[in-house]
Amino acid sequence: MSIDSFLDEPSRGTGQGLDVDATLPGVNEGEIVVIRSTRRKKNVSAYRAGGRIIVSIPARMSKADERAMVPEMVAKIRAQEAAQMMSQSELAARIDELLRQFAPEITIRPTEVAWRAMRERWGSCTSLDRTIRISDRLKGAPAHALDFVLFHEAIHLEISDHGPGFKAILARFPQAELAGAYLDGYEAAETALAMPQELKKLLNK
Ligand SMILES: [Zn+2]
Repeated sequence: MSIDSFLDEPSRGTGQGLDVDATLPGVNEGEIVVIRSTRRKKNVSAYRAGGRIIVSIPARMSKADERAMVPEMVAKIRAQEAAQMMSQSELAARIDELLRQFAPEITIRPTEVAWRAMRERWGSCTSLDRTIRISDRLKGAPAHALDFVLFHEAIHLEISDHGPGFKAILARFPQAELAGAYLDGYEAAETALAMPQELKKLLNK
């Protein structure tokens, strides 16, 4: 069964007890895949795998419960995806606003703005295809800190380096110092929190 290749059970031994069930009536054929797992006692989980939504349910769950549960889980996944899409389009809208307000001479706009799991950087801009990536560490940041990073990356659409031209535009951002302090403080805290683990590694050597 090809579906096995993207199951999230890391050590399922012989693979017994995993059955790929038929899709339910009322949901798009082939998009929803229900997996009955004997390893699962109570909880139901759902996740996206390529074009499909995989719903994993306990093997003993009744057909009636399955019919009630699966559409609920599918709705949850779709709502999560919608929320993420919305926040990414909000990022793009925010960039548009920041450029209009502080750098009206820059008329170029990104083709895509997306959250990314990035530890090393706060953001990145690929001017070639005009995509901007924002570190998901900023998801809980104060608005001025997020704005500062968005503005920084947006300027890169026009100016790729950090030369005087870039700095002159960035300096128009009103809360640059405050934002910079937040970002530096966050990084310092991250480093400090990572320290014990690093020390542990050294001690174990
Ligand atoms: Zn930069």
